[in-house]
Amino acid sequence: MILKKLFNKKNHKNPLIISGPCSIESPNQLEETVSQLVDQGIEIIRGGVWKPRTRPGSFEGLGSIALPWIQEVKSKYPVKFAIEVASAEHVEEALKYDIDIYWIGARSTVNPFTVQEIADSLKGTGKPVMIKNPVNADLSLWMGAVERFQKAGITDLAVIHRGFSNFRDTIHRNSPLWQIPIEFRTHFPEIMMINDPSHISGKRELVPLIAQKALDLNFDGLMIESHIDPDNAWSDAQQQLTPADLKKMLSELKTRKVKFEGQKMKSQLEEIRQQIDQADHDLLEALHRRFELVEKIGEYKKLNNVAVLQLDRWKEIFESRPEWGKPLRLNKDLIQEIFGLLHQESIRKQTEILDSE
Ligand code: PEP
Ligand code: MN
Repeated sequence: MILKKLFNKKNHKNPLIISGPCSIESPNQLEETVSQLVDQGIEIIRGGVWKPRTRPGSFEGLGSIALPWIQEVKSKYPVKFAIEVASAEHVEEALKYDIDIYWIGARSTVNPFTVQEIADSLKGTGKPVMIKNPVNADLSLWMGAVERFQKAGITDLAVIHRGFSNFRDTIHRNSPLWQIPIEFRTHFPEIMMINDPSHISGKRELVPLIAQKALDLNFDGLMIESHIDPDNAWSDAQQQLTPADLKKMLSELKTRKVKFEGQKMKSQLEEIRQQIDQADHDLLEALHRRFELVEKIGEYKKLNNVAVLQLDRWKEIFESRPEWGKPLRLNKDLIQEIFGLLHQESIRKQTEILDSE
């Protein structure tokens, strides 16, 4: 018998699609969703049994009573089933019903004790595991969780990028911070990376945009929540799609196909471009920091009634920066030009501050 690992990248030419309800609510809701998803060609179903909710009082999943319903549905449809587990007890229960795939939720990945407990309980079962990123933007914590499973001998692994808790991002439910999964991949290029546009976006209108971005960034798959009656779902009602909408969305996504020999070169090129995007992002953040300091010094000059233009300081900057750039192999003329522009803008900003009421 050939052992075919579910998450072995080589076994998948197209993005792997996992879909199903946020939570399992009834045998009928489950079967109807699965039946419609199977019609759309979906082979891996997700469904929440135990739901980690941020605040108490929201629906926390039906628990073990949903497990035999999954088994029943699996006897009727050609699907594999994935659920979230958050403790050894969950794993033990789910194993009794031969659940196929186990995922670690974002709130569990943050806790090494929990991760270790789950890894130990799945050890030797041969079950595939998916590890969501932790709720906080901590790459090491995510990598650490993967390593705990690898150490337990579990190699049929995938990770799920579901975004990171945020304070000010009003667009996303969880900020994608794409640089984190991209960096993750540089450490674990062989691990399949799945994107969860549902939990990143938090609203169904935004799901296709995030999904497309993930495919553009060469993610290996998508996990998307779907429900036969999304508006009346018991959890995450705003972000779930009907199976029909899912089908439409998938047909409109532009996927990267492995078609010809040059593909390897192309994907290497894409990898470098992603790194350039990241470097530019870092550059913009550095500029943002610099201009915040410029504002600070502007306020200080205003408070002390000091003129904006301090020639000796400017001369020092203009001379030192190209020197600093030398060991970094940065062209002197370019650096002078960049700092000339930065200085102009600093003067403009500070004058504005000095002249303001
Ligand atoms: C879920 O997948 O329904 C879920 C609770 O996700 P997360 O762990 O990403 O919040
Ligand atoms: Mn959900």
